[in-house]
Amino acid sequence: MTATATRVLVLNSGSSSLKYQLLDMHDGARLAAGLVERIGEETSRLAHTPLATGGDTRETEGPIADHTTALKAVAAELAADGLGLDSPQLAAIGHRVVHGGLKFTEPTVIDDAVLTEIERLVPVAPLHNPANITGIRTARALRPDLPQVAVFDTAFHTTMPEYAARYAIDVATADAHRIRRYGFHGTSHAYVSRKTAALLGKDPSEVNVIVLHLGNGASASAVAGGRCVDTSMGLTPLEGLVMGTRSGDIDPAVTFHLKRVAGMSEDEVDELLNKKSGLIGLCGDNDMREIRRRIDAGGEDGARAQLAFDIYIHRLKKYLGAYTAVLGRVDAVAFTAGVGENAAPVRAAAIAGLEQMGMAVDADRNAVRSDEPRLISPEGSRVAVAVVPTDEELEIAQQTYALVSA
Ligand code: AMP
Repeated sequence: MTATATRVLVLNSGSSSLKYQLLDMHDGARLAAGLVERIGEETSRLAHTPLATGGDTRETEGPIADHTTALKAVAAELAADGLGLDSPQLAAIGHRVVHGGLKFTEPTVIDDAVLTEIERLVPVAPLHNPANITGIRTARALRPDLPQVAVFDTAFHTTMPEYAARYAIDVATADAHRIRRYGFHGTSHAYVSRKTAALLGKDPSEVNVIVLHLGNGASASAVAGGRCVDTSMGLTPLEGLVMGTRSGDIDPAVTFHLKRVAGMSEDEVDELLNKKSGLIGLCGDNDMREIRRRIDAGGEDGARAQLAFDIYIHRLKKYLGAYTAVLGRVDAVAFTAGVGENAAPVRAAAIAGLEQMGMAVDADRNAVRSDEPRLISPEGSRVAVAVVPTDEELEIAQQTYALVSA
């Protein structure tokens, strides 16, 4: 890395998508951002926004066969803005990697041995790690000389005590198959819990925070003095809160029942619980805006949407209660991600009736729309309730840059 190299390209590779942002860590400026969708199909689409110049988003449609072709197309878009991957100002590429198992507790510079280790985790993250690995291989092939860093979704949760991380199942079986609660969205929980402490004017070590990351995927975490002590997702991102398309917590015997009585296959049950459950399974919509619209419209359809909303809120309340008990003292509850940042009715309903726990929401504060971290609890509340926008790309870029510039 040269003295002028301050840029980090953040890559988030999904099975058929590639999201990216180019940031300058000199001042945290976002230079470019974009998304390649439907990789491997005829109708792939690349949308690139040259944020540095304030130019319009450029969209290209047409077949993009694989991740290598996708990253080459992204590199060409960046080069067109004078931000090419061959720039001496590029310090590193930071990769979001979903599963780091127990091995990766920190961001890690990727070499062959690290890549092999990430591959060894594929059996516990079959849906996510293969895509992340493809992204890493592709980027390494394009810039073999550049440091590449893996930032793991699970890393923040590796501080969970053993009694929170273990399932109460036969230990030998669990250990043989690495079955335990790993947790996900860790980059977001780390960033938001730190930002919440800053909003309170405190060091992270001084505060206990419950973070509610409510996006299409959703998870809660209990963070004591900057360290995660419990989180709602488990071996996979299926456990915990009600999500856009995932059931969250469910009696595991439901799966036996679906197979034995309903005659469903393993894959059908997997698809039902991961893709056809949660809000979409309950009411046919997974977008909270649409669910609120239907509730407001009323009638039978509104009642169906209301029930889905109520189930979503009920689960949130249960986790707020559980994590209050786990933490003993709660200083703040932070709402983040698409729903948490934007859906005031979700925040109001989740906190309603929790005055005994020191939690309340001020209606006027809750109605304010802003991209900034802000308090929505009344003045003088025992527990601060906050909206803290997450920024996983910035967190990945910061962690990557900290590692390569050390
Ligand atoms: P994320 O996964 O963090 O991008 O969150 C996506 C989800 O956020 C969507 O599926 C919506 O349910 C929700 N969302 C986004 N914008 C709004 C909004 N303005 N009001 C309510 N919900 C929103």
